[in-house]
Amino acid sequence: MADRIVIVGGGFAGLSTAIHLSRHIKSSDDIDILLIDKQSEHVYLPLIYEVASGGLMEKKKTKTLKKGVSLPFDLGGHLTGHENVQFRQGEVMDVDTKANEVKLSSGAVVSFDYLVMAMGAVSGTFGIEGVEKNATSLTSLDNALKIREKCSDLLVECEKKLRVGVNMVIVGGGPNGVEVSSEIAKALEHAKNKRGISCDWQITLVDAGPRILSNMGKFASWVATRRLKRLGVNIAAGTFVKSVKPSTVSVEPNERLKNVSPYIKSTKIKSDVTIWAAGVASRPQWKKWGLPIDERGYIKTLPTLQMFGLNHVFVAGDSASIIGRRMQQRAPEAIDQGRSVAENLIRVVRGQAILRSHHDMKWPFAIPLGGRFAISSLGPITVIGVFAYILRKAIDLKYFLSIMKLRHAISVWWHGGKAYLEND
Ligand SMILES: Cc1cc2nc3c(=O)[nH]c(=O)nc-3n(C[C@H](O)[C@H](O)[C@H](O)COP(=O)(O)OP(=O)(O)OC[C@H]3O[C@@H](n4cnc5c(N)ncnc54)[C@H](O)[C@@H]3O)c2cc1C
Repeated sequence: MADRIVIVGGGFAGLSTAIHLSRHIKSSDDIDILLIDKQSEHVYLPLIYEVASGGLMEKKKTKTLKKGVSLPFDLGGHLTGHENVQFRQGEVMDVDTKANEVKLSSGAVVSFDYLVMAMGAVSGTFGIEGVEKNATSLTSLDNALKIREKCSDLLVECEKKLRVGVNMVIVGGGPNGVEVSSEIAKALEHAKNKRGISCDWQITLVDAGPRILSNMGKFASWVATRRLKRLGVNIAAGTFVKSVKPSTVSVEPNERLKNVSPYIKSTKIKSDVTIWAAGVASRPQWKKWGLPIDERGYIKTLPTLQMFGLNHVFVAGDSASIIGRRMQQRAPEAIDQGRSVAENLIRVVRGQAILRSHHDMKWPFAIPLGGRFAISSLGPITVIGVFAYILRKAIDLKYFLSIMKLRHAISVWWHGGKAYLEND
């Protein structure tokens, strides 16, 4: 009987593993590949800020907006364009690495010879009161649509003169928080200029660190700060969130950073919409399942991407904590780890004793800052403005081309891009 490789999670890492296996296995390898995901579609997360802010006045466009980021896994029982990979929709509720079984929420048990854990991470709430209940995290397509619907309803209320102002708090000044705040500010500018909808919008971007995009160079932070201020976003760096209520966010200055926060004492900021983009955390179930985890709860992994202590289980993407290395938790790194896992799995299946160590790379980034403006870094070179925006579009297209056939990839990129261009 053929050996079975089960991949849990069809995000960047899991899909990359499946596709690379599919491209490189031979019939003599005699393996079955099964990809399991709780969703029916692969979601291109880097563009979901466009879904949260796209076409706010056009209620019917949800389907069009989804087209540019959500790609159904299952075409006739097989993963898009890869007929030697089976797809099964199901939520994995337990993993037993001794019995070599995963259990699904339906009660079904799936056995494996080799397992790839690629479940990603969750939104980090850091135990702050009220976040889960009263804020919407920007980590899934459903949540992006929820944010869009809320903004859209508020705009309609403004148009009907049912309210004079709208307050929005976005927590997290990393790339996600910066992208979504600039794009929503741009969408509101668009609503004002093109539809005459004028409302007193107050968007506040809160971050506990000394500046927004603090993981990047000072120049990137300076460009993003200038751009956001021009779009009318209030920036509250050096500020901690203490709790989130249905219509307020309580904040206080970060005492370790003198004179950074615009607040001098505990303050309640009004908020009709609170968006949580403050980073990611590990999935609590890994501990429950008895997997080896590091001090932050991520799965301990060898440089070969084998789970610590188990040769037949591999880990890739945001879930993997490679011993002794700093986690990148970025899409291109997850894709690259998926590629390395596929390569090592093929070696194991073919009985080769030596596996390849995965090497991290420094990947270029391009952060959209509202409209046709972005900042991007290509090694030592930083590009800003429309060229960086074009670069970002090219990165998106390159990804779609890497996972789909040419016509399909161009169609997803083009149709999504067209819908998202509206605010640009
Ligand atoms: C809003 C947002 C924007 C981002 N933008 C960028 C960007 O512009 N550039 C960049 O480099 N990085 C970006 N990132 C980070 C990047 O998306 C992640 O690093 C990447 O998604 C990690 O890939 P992964 O495969 O490990 O996890 P994911 O892509 O999160 O995939 C995990 C998969 O596992 C599935 N899953 C989870 N639990 C279960 C279960 N119990 N059973 C079955 N299936 C399960 C999920 O449905 C999902 O499909 C962004 C992240 C977010 C949230």
